[in-house]
Amino acid sequence: MARDRLDGVRDHYDVIVIGAGLAGMTSANNLAKCGRSVLLLEQHYNFGGMATWFRRKGGHIFDISLHGFPIGMIKSCRKYWTREIADCIVQLKGIVFDNPQFQLKTPFDRADFTRILVERFGIAPETVESFFDTARRMDFYDDQSMTTRELFEKFFPGRSDVVRLLMEPITYANGSTLDDPAITYGIVFSNFMSRGVYIFQGGTDKLIQMMRQEMVRTGVDLRKQVQVERIVVEDGRACGVIANGRRISAGAVLSNANLKTTVEKLVGPEHCPDELLEETRAVRLNNSSCQVYMGIKKGERIDYIGDLLFTSVSDVFDTKAMCARDVTSRTFSMYYPDTRPGSDRYAIVSSTNANWNDWANLSPEDYQRDKAHLIETTLAALEKYVPDIRSKLDHVEASTPVTFHHYTQQMHGSTFGTKFEGLKVSMDLPNHIPGLFHAGSVGIIMSGWLGAINYGVIVANELETYMFEQARTGGHDDTISTTEPMRS
Ligand SMILES: Cc1cc2nc3c(=O)[nH]c(=O)nc-3n(C[C@H](O)[C@H](O)[C@H](O)COP(=O)(O)OP(=O)(O)OC[C@H]3O[C@@H](n4cnc5c(N)ncnc54)[C@H](O)[C@@H]3O)c2cc1C
Repeated sequence: MARDRLDGVRDHYDVIVIGAGLAGMTSANNLAKCGRSVLLLEQHYNFGGMATWFRRKGGHIFDISLHGFPIGMIKSCRKYWTREIADCIVQLKGIVFDNPQFQLKTPFDRADFTRILVERFGIAPETVESFFDTARRMDFYDDQSMTTRELFEKFFPGRSDVVRLLMEPITYANGSTLDDPAITYGIVFSNFMSRGVYIFQGGTDKLIQMMRQEMVRTGVDLRKQVQVERIVVEDGRACGVIANGRRISAGAVLSNANLKTTVEKLVGPEHCPDELLEETRAVRLNNSSCQVYMGIKKGERIDYIGDLLFTSVSDVFDTKAMCARDVTSRTFSMYYPDTRPGSDRYAIVSSTNANWNDWANLSPEDYQRDKAHLIETTLAALEKYVPDIRSKLDHVEASTPVTFHHYTQQMHGSTFGTKFEGLKVSMDLPNHIPGLFHAGSVGIIMSGWLGAINYGVIVANELETYMFEQARTGGHDDTISTTEPMRS
């Protein structure tokens, strides 16, 4: 008989969290630390969501989304998780750019970028300084009408090479384009520029195991392989879920599922005020990704050629071309043995941005053919940096937007959630349906490992305030402390 994944689950919790991505786990852990009873329900057999890994025969282990995040992760992990987790975060020092416009290696910080922009690209030091200061000062409450294109045009008119240096890594890091609001660029770029690019030493498996242990310690009731089918809304309030066919009630529900899925499927149009439904329908998803995972044979080694290689054969930076099925730009993440101290193994992961529509509707034969093509062209591109790569490999496979959708249920396999407008819809959710909160990649700035963790904390605080108010008023007062007054 199949195991009952809800065995021993109570009928009622203070909070039910749907989804154990970084945002969901962070919210759950912080609410449990506040003394709340928390049930965390994850549909997959692993916790972590996009922050995940997999093993293959021959001792291979591949990380999916461990390519780089800003230094802010150290503070967030120390404050909202544990010191031990924060202590595993280390800097990647060799970030390489190789494209028809320039080749260079950098630690990816403000001092080195200033040097490169002044010495190699001939930009006046005061212009560079002023650009960095402008980007640094940007925040969510700024004017959101200026686009990233306009920001670059203001500081570096006609300089497509400078735009490429400043923008290409950010397009990889959060899928943003030149037409997105400049603040999405400014906030994320400044986060990276403050001190460079970091990863978690020990691998994603170790991080998620440490987070799990911490959640066990704080008392979160953790359940995997549990599909939440519905969020229960009664009298306009979220008051529980239907999961694996069973109803469980709660004082509040926090969804870490995709924002659009949360509103349109888990709640359902019949329980949504029209305004919320319209706003949600208007939210655009971010792009998805393809990856090629290359496992190096035991005993083989790869010379150090940098940690993160932003490579492109496209003449100019072009975000449409970066997502196209005919790949022109690839990021190679090089995993040397020190990624997992004690190991002697190497792996390489190639990541490219990708469109759902290019992969979702193929016949099984065409899908396999296109995956094989992706693998072949990726190996050919990698030969420039590791000439004998084919003889060093004994495992290679690829993933596509369909793969990411399959494992995380992110709508259209979206790597970074939604475009900017999704953030307001996510933040406003409890104003439309009291007791319902959303935390997870939205709005570009709240995506990636750091964005997801920080947003998980922000929303946990909002939810805690809601619970407090509910207790104080006996559930009769609708006033909660989100960004806007109640609308419905
Ligand atoms: C290829 C790739 C490379 C990336 N590289 C980087 C990088 O280098 N640096 C970086 O910072 N970020 C990177 N990211 C992005 C980063 O991984 C994500 O932004 C972040 O992990 C998202 O976390 P989340 O909590 O918002 O959502 P998710 O990770 O999507 O988690 C949502 C969880 O909810 C679960 N769920 C959904 N619906 C249900 C349901 N109905 N019932 C039960 N469970 C449900 C899912 O299974 C999943 O576990 C990358 C992502 C990808 C795909």
